[in-house]
Amino acid sequence: MQLVEDVVSMKDEVAQWRRTLHADPELLFDVHNTAAFVAEKLKSFGCDEVVTGIGRTGVVGIIHGRPGGNGPAIGLRADMDALPINEITGVPWASRTPGKMHACGHDGHTAMLLGAARHLAATRNFTGSVAVIFQPAEEGGGGGREMVNDGMMERFGITKVFGMHNLPGLPVGEFAICKGPIMAATDIFDVTITGRGGHAAMPHQTIDPIVAGSAVVTALQSIASRNADPLASVVVSVTKFIAGSAYNVIPDKVEMAGTVRTLSPEMRDMAETRIGEIVRSVAAAHGAEGSFNYIRNYPVTFNHADETDFAADIAESVAGEGKVERQQPPTMGGEDFSFMLEARPGAFIFMGNGDTASLHHPAYDFNDDAIPVGVSYWVKLAEKALAA
Ligand SMILES: [Zn+2]
Ligand SMILES: [Zn+2]
Repeated sequence: MQLVEDVVSMKDEVAQWRRTLHADPELLFDVHNTAAFVAEKLKSFGCDEVVTGIGRTGVVGIIHGRPGGNGPAIGLRADMDALPINEITGVPWASRTPGKMHACGHDGHTAMLLGAARHLAATRNFTGSVAVIFQPAEEGGGGGREMVNDGMMERFGITKVFGMHNLPGLPVGEFAICKGPIMAATDIFDVTITGRGGHAAMPHQTIDPIVAGSAVVTALQSIASRNADPLASVVVSVTKFIAGSAYNVIPDKVEMAGTVRTLSPEMRDMAETRIGEIVRSVAAAHGAEGSFNYIRNYPVTFNHADETDFAADIAESVAGEGKVERQQPPTMGGEDFSFMLEARPGAFIFMGNGDTASLHHPAYDFNDDAIPVGVSYWVKLAEKALAA
């Protein structure tokens, strides 16, 4: 492994920041303490500009390179928000707020990017500018979209963006990436099946929405099995099915909801169209009425080819030969870094978190041993991308 030397010596301090953030998890856009911590640190490092309130509670630090050097700006992005989970790790730095927890490692992402910012601000061994981007609301609120819509890319002249996420199960010191789709589009839908309720002993006098709704759930399985190309990817999961309140009453309606995951615009359009057709026609076949609402949430996280090669080469220069998987299979999870990758070319990479509990698990904790690896990746990436 080829770590950046003074990054190794700052590991304990970065781990301390990480644990401070871990103990005080905040959700979605309400990351006020975290954003204040980040902004205070960036100012203390001597960043040339520290701007808060971008995309509501996002923070951007700007670090200019060598005086007189002229070059583009690149964006390095971390996320700051936690999850509504009750932590069970029992570690001394565990969440002090019941029901909130850093179970996705965003505490580690934020701390590592702060470590990189400190090194880059102290050494300035590059031309152009580095924008360190700290976004709120990755876990469902679309904080990345908000920052892009707030004009972040134009305001700071950002030409390329890079993101990183820890990955449990991948050894510490290893990376994984792929070109094209690396994470899925994450859409959601709501369905209402309206029938006519009545006495459960006289079903012939009712239109039973539970029987109709059950047929809809079953028919939705045919989108993946019969409508999709067997070599393409689509997930349609019904995750809510709410109806009825008594043993002897057939209710008036069923409310359902679920998620759709796809890796291409074609599959996304197909899934949306087919869900509508199935809901309406299967409900009608039962004499009921089906209505649905489809919400396009995060788009596909799409890695651009040249930037992916670049990121993988940087990762290899840190981790060593054979430690970077360049053909990582995409996951059907989502990421709102996807909005930044729609706005600018760039790449999103996974970094090993070792043998820990999985992401979003109440026993998960970010692995501090990965800190020097992640910080070295950021530093080398910025210095190489902006080399004179
Ligand atoms: Zn997450
Ligand atoms: Zn995450």
